[in-house]
Amino acid sequence: MTTIFAQIVRGEIPADIIYQDDLVTAFRDIHPLAPVHILIVSNEVIPTVNDLTIEDEQVAGRMMLVAKKIAEQEGVAESGYRLLINCRDHAGQEVYHLHMHLLGGRPLGPMLARQ
Ligand code: AMP
Repeated sequence: MTTIFAQIVRGEIPADIIYQDDLVTAFRDIHPLAPVHILIVSNEVIPTVNDLTIEDEQVAGRMMLVAKKIAEQEGVAESGYRLLINCRDHAGQEVYHLHMHLLGGRPLGPMLARQ
C-alpha cells in the first residue's frame, strides 16, 4: 500500500521536511491553517488510529515526543499549540496514513465549533 505521505517519506515527491528518523517524518502542511502547521507522519503506512497495534507503541510515542521537540524549535512551546489526529469520516480524515497535525503560532480558538 502506498500513500502520498509514503512517497514524501521516501523522497519521491517534494515536501518541506523538517525532521526524519527511523520511525517518523515531519514536514510542513501544504495548505497551512496556522502560522505553524506541521504534519508528523509514521514512516510505515498505518491508515488510521484504528489500525494501531501494540507493535506500533514506539511509533505512536515517537510522534508525540517529536511534536514536543518541533514545537520548541518552531518557537510555539511557550505560547501553546494543538496536536490533532483525524480518524476516518466524521473527523474529516483526507489522507489514510497516520499523521498528527501540530498547529500553533496564533490563538487557535475553540477545539470545535459549537453546533
Ligand atoms: P487530514 O485531513 O487529517 O487527513 O489531513 C491531511 C493534511 O495533509 C491536510 O491538512 C493537507 O493540507 C495535507 N497535505 C495533503 N497533501 C500534502 C502534501 N503533498 N504535502 C503536505 N501536506 C499535504
